[in-house]
Amino acid sequence: MPLNFEVVIIGAGPAGSTASLFLAKEKIPHLIIEKEKFPRDKICGDALSGKVIPILKKINPELVAELAGSRHALGSHGIIFSAPNGKSIGIPFKTVTSKVDFAPGFISRRIDFDDFLFRKIDRNFAEVSESSVLLDASAEGNEMLLKVQQGDQTISIRTKLVIACDGDRSVIARKFGNKTMEEEHYCGGIRAYYKGVTGMDQNNFIELHFLDELLPGYFWIFPLPGGYANVGAGMLSKSLSSKKVNLRHAMENIITHHPVFKERFKSATPDGKIQGWGLPLGSKRRKLSGNNFLLCGDAASLIDPFTGEGISNAMFSGMTAAMQAAEAVKNKKYDAGFLTAYDEKIYSRLWSELRLSRTLQKLCNYPSLFNFVINKAEKNQTFRETLSCMFDDMNLREKLRKPSFYFNLLFN
Ligand SMILES: Cc1cc2nc3c(=O)[nH]c(=O)nc-3n(C[C@H](O)[C@H](O)[C@H](O)COP(=O)(O)OP(=O)(O)OC[C@H]3O[C@@H](n4cnc5c(N)ncnc54)[C@H](O)[C@@H]3O)c2cc1C
Repeated sequence: MPLNFEVVIIGAGPAGSTASLFLAKEKIPHLIIEKEKFPRDKICGDALSGKVIPILKKINPELVAELAGSRHALGSHGIIFSAPNGKSIGIPFKTVTSKVDFAPGFISRRIDFDDFLFRKIDRNFAEVSESSVLLDASAEGNEMLLKVQQGDQTISIRTKLVIACDGDRSVIARKFGNKTMEEEHYCGGIRAYYKGVTGMDQNNFIELHFLDELLPGYFWIFPLPGGYANVGAGMLSKSLSSKKVNLRHAMENIITHHPVFKERFKSATPDGKIQGWGLPLGSKRRKLSGNNFLLCGDAASLIDPFTGEGISNAMFSGMTAAMQAAEAVKNKKYDAGFLTAYDEKIYSRLWSELRLSRTLQKLCNYPSLFNFVINKAEKNQTFRETLSCMFDDMNLREKLRKPSFYFNLLFN
């Protein structure tokens, strides 16, 4: 006899844990099926942008203070960009005048951050099944039948609604959401941990280095607690293939031969090996729901195509999916027509941002334009402040899409 749950979440990463936390607020009982046993790692740059903070506050206003006080998280106050010509600028996340209680962003290893969220799951409403793998799903009348591996047993679970938070290789997204790997909308990424990288910023700015050999993409160095750094590289898959770039070799080459970075890594020691994983980019609108399912996070391909940031959008989609699930449970409606409101909510909030990031990603194909913008910013305080505000102000950010922005820059 299959088990019965009205709502089932697959995956307990940032999307799944957030979905569960918001379902619990609505007092909706649900099951979580998670492949791994927590704490588990996820290959990532480990940077939590400012967009994570309001969602944490909505879960529980105390969470940000708890994260900020944790020895596993480092507060970050800005970002350093370097252009292909080697010029770099540091941009604070907020203008100096704005008042914030905590750092605007954080860096925390995913083995710690995901566990931090996972431990908050409210067991009064969530039944959690770790070390359980979703193998397959099939539509059965107006329900979904899930085939799940638990140890050496295969069990069946019947549900009205699946919230698919099972990441890039999502079973549900592939089977029902037509998810495929599209090189134009996908990025390859690798990361390694190092101790003792020198020249780190005093305010823990994260560093994105747009080097010729990695465009469109970048080499990053993100500071971590304890003198460690998350070091990695990512590049659009289409360009990886067409330019025949081996990311691992490219990164090793930068660390050992690049005139600036070889000095900074001279006394650094690797902690573990280089590991890779894919980034499904949100540079294309997709169907995010259908009969009896909602897709979240990487399963929904919501990663920012310029910055590679996916944690905040995973959490935002988890929160939105839980609210849509609450509506579905209240109205007893789980069909594609009813659930399509979820797609609208996600894209009305995220699409303009994702579209803009897509434009910026394309600008990386013109290194001279990139050099020009950074050169200007290096010399011009007002322009640096404008760029800084662009992280918060979408209207201002929209200007980056317009040719007039670059024209004005040229003559100012
Ligand atoms: C190299 C790299 C660097 C990145 N750097 C950053 C960064 O610095 N900042 C940022 O914001 N984003 C970054 N990202 C993106 C970010 O990692 C993802 O967007 C984010 O993890 C998405 O969260 P999620 O909950 O959707 O999926 P995941 O975090 O992938 O969680 C999915 C969960 O589902 C479980 N699961 C998978 N399959 C099954 C199954 N069949 N059955 C049961 N459970 C299953 C997994 O075990 C996992 O726990 C990076 C990604 C990469 C690859």
